[in-house]
Amino acid sequence: MSYPRRSALAAALAGAALLLTSLPASPAAAAPLRPVASVGAAAAAPAPVTTKPAVPKPLRDPRNIGVLVNKTHPLKPKSYVPKGHVRVQGQRLRAEPAAALKKMMRDAKASGARLVTVSGYRSYSTQKSLFARYTRAYGATYAARISARPGYSEHQTGLTMDVGAASGACRLGACLGNTKAGRWVAKNAWKYGYIVRYPKGQEKVAGYTYEPWHLRYVGVKISTAMKKGKIPTLEHYYGQVKRR
Ligand SMILES: [Zn+2]
Repeated sequence: MSYPRRSALAAALAGAALLLTSLPASPAAAAPLRPVASVGAAAAAPAPVTTKPAVPKPLRDPRNIGVLVNKTHPLKPKSYVPKGHVRVQGQRLRAEPAAALKKMMRDAKASGARLVTVSGYRSYSTQKSLFARYTRAYGATYAARISARPGYSEHQTGLTMDVGAASGACRLGACLGNTKAGRWVAKNAWKYGYIVRYPKGQEKVAGYTYEPWHLRYVGVKISTAMKKGKIPTLEHYYGQVKRR
């Protein structure tokens, strides 16, 4: 197999193990697992990280702020009730996420994006009646795309809040993502330890359609790692899906 001549920079980078790059493919990219670099872009951006951080094991204890809850990872036990809660505009959360949310709402307001809380902690039995209501209204298949079965809802952890715009626009609607409030949340929630848990285009992975209002508290350590690593969902973070 013959390789095209490498540029001086590509040759210099070759020593640094495998380079992952989002640069457009060049003729030099024809051979797999070889560094690709174009002088301008490579000079402007730092060399990509060559080793991926170890993938953490999914946390299953709902007392842990990093717990993974989805359609294949129910709460353990399914009847879990968090200890203590704080109300934020009448909606319940555990103390740590409540403090973070209050700060986030203050900062959002200062930026001109007024947020309100829509739905926080929901017990197993509340979720049970909610899921039954959705099933009656939409049928079981669609109900499962938009709502969790009892024992499988992040709302039951006390770490999750559905938020909305103070104007009431696009309440629990995908169009919230296009409002000032929705855009502010998508851009800034991570700074407060929250993630938009069901991002656009991740239904197959996260299990639910796009929900720009559903904010899950994971703590700033995880939210920052996800932001910096461009990790779209908690499933990706916990290695439930192959990372790109
Ligand atoms: Zn929600």
